[in-house]
Amino acid sequence: MSLYLDGDLIALDARDASANVNFVSHAHADHIGGIRKGVPAITSEITRELVEARKNITMTVVQPSKNMRLLNAGHILGSTQLYAESKDGGYSVVYTGDFQMQESPIAGKAECRHADVLIIDSTYPHADVTFEAKDEVITSLQRYCTAKLEKGIVLFGSFSLGKPQELITILNEVDICPVVDSRIAKVNKVYEKHGIKLDYICADDNAGEHDAMTKGNFVSIVENQKIRETKQMLMQRHNKRVSTAIATGLSKVFDFGLDVQFSLSDHADFAQSIEYIDACSPKFIYTYGKEADAFAANLTRAGRAAAPMRPKTLFGDLVVETNEATL
Ligand SMILES: [Zn+2]
Repeated sequence: MSLYLDGDLIALDARDASANVNFVSHAHADHIGGIRKGVPAITSEITRELVEARKNITMTVVQPSKNMRLLNAGHILGSTQLYAESKDGGYSVVYTGDFQMQESPIAGKAECRHADVLIIDSTYPHADVTFEAKDEVITSLQRYCTAKLEKGIVLFGSFSLGKPQELITILNEVDICPVVDSRIAKVNKVYEKHGIKLDYICADDNAGEHDAMTKGNFVSIVENQKIRETKQMLMQRHNKRVSTAIATGLSKVFDFGLDVQFSLSDHADFAQSIEYIDACSPKFIYTYGKEADAFAANLTRAGRAAAPMRPKTLFGDLVVETNEATL
């Protein structure tokens, strides 16, 4: 997936090996797999640090040209959208990457800027998936953890970047200092470097502190895949009740088979996407991702001019393709 703009072929989230420059919106694994040594990347400084910490590589970063802007995406720390204008000012485009319209305590919210063409993420393509106000979800998560800690251990499953740091902030607000593994602690260090205060204990680095803390009840955050085996291990080791939890927007779509699931999302739901689209007021929308077809169909039904983006759309083609009808 790439954008041909004024002589450069820009791979959006490094998803085109033939491009001469990458744009990297944020450091989640599904957006950085295509980064290759020596190919320059347009990205935020925080995303560069997070990618380098996670992939153990050195990125070659170039500044966006004068006709480009990185806009906050509100998804995770350092996440950005790409806004670009053709040099003759003939057209403008925004590529969102993953984005969120509700204010996040760490990442803020997505910045909306008018563009002729919008290339938008389709993680939640259906109008029947709606997220509650973030404050409400946070309060119920805090209450749940506080209550369960009276009786035992609470175990959250999570990826290493974004959600754990948000969870730590939310738990710290109610004086809970969670235990995390070294993969999360590695990411935490980048967040802390950029002014996000996180109070946690790394199970792998601070054996003494960890042993002292786990004599009492505690909250722990582990890899999603390890949540069941970790629950068994903790029950045997501590002889306590262990409640399992997850905090993700996918709680609205899947039953994870855990004790509780919170719909704490760092993505926009359908209604928030419409809010974003109306603020951006594009002439044409391209959807991308696994749900691109469904999202484009639902946007069309909602009266917006939309189509799924092809795997590789040259911007010149895109102008020709949309010129007569919409631009
Ligand atoms: Zn993401």
